[in-house]
Amino acid sequence: MTAADLPSLFLSHGAPTLSLDPGATGAFWQRLAAELPRPDAVLCVSAHWMTEEPAVSAPERNDTIHDFYGFPEPLYRMTWPAPGAPALAKRVSALLAEAGIPSATDTERGLDHGAWVPLRLMYPAADIPTMQLSIQPYRDAAWHEQLGAALAPLRRDGVLVLASGGAVHNLRALMRQGGPVAPWAKAFDDWLATALAEGRRAELLDWLDRAPHARDAQPTPDHFLPLFVALGAAGPNARGERIHQGFTLGSLSMAAFRFAA
Ligand code: ZN
Repeated sequence: MTAADLPSLFLSHGAPTLSLDPGATGAFWQRLAAELPRPDAVLCVSAHWMTEEPAVSAPERNDTIHDFYGFPEPLYRMTWPAPGAPALAKRVSALLAEAGIPSATDTERGLDHGAWVPLRLMYPAADIPTMQLSIQPYRDAAWHEQLGAALAPLRRDGVLVLASGGAVHNLRALMRQGGPVAPWAKAFDDWLATALAEGRRAELLDWLDRAPHARDAQPTPDHFLPLFVALGAAGPNARGERIHQGFTLGSLSMAAFRFAA
């Protein structure tokens, strides 16, 4: 496999504490990075950067944003100081503009935990230029698929399009003690895996009406929308393969998908 074959990815990033206790998902991320061709740059689409209109981050060096509250102190000292990717940010803006989508550029913003929690485990040396593209929580899946489609050429140029969110993400339903996986969470997770494997694009884009237990699985769409950017970036006929699965806290899916045409 060469860098020309870079897939796009969707990772469920779980809770920030995964950084302290990486478990099976952290080990999977490390294996995944080792298996992929080393990217020249990473474009991350995280659930934790939401703006009304698309924005790209373009600092010279990324600050590590600790955008969570009430977690153990060591988490607030973790950093992943990867270089920024201002040239890539410019190209992303140009590709979006070609698709008729205006975007803003933020030269100050660093990386939120949706980005650095997985990337810190995948690329511990923090030496790959990295930038983020924001999501628009008031727009739908088709919009985010179009964002991804505009970015498809980047995959041939050594850019890893890494979307980070949650395949099932309902914080009010979490069970501190773990326990069995909630049936509605498993039903949604399995619907997603099957629909992606079979390339049922129209059904996926209409997920709010067609997926089982959609509103339980994603009470707000922010952790799901990044998936559609990764799907779009893989091309109109792409399918998604579930390359990791599991639940924590009773209903928080840790599923990961790899998209390729
Ligand atoms: Zn999150």
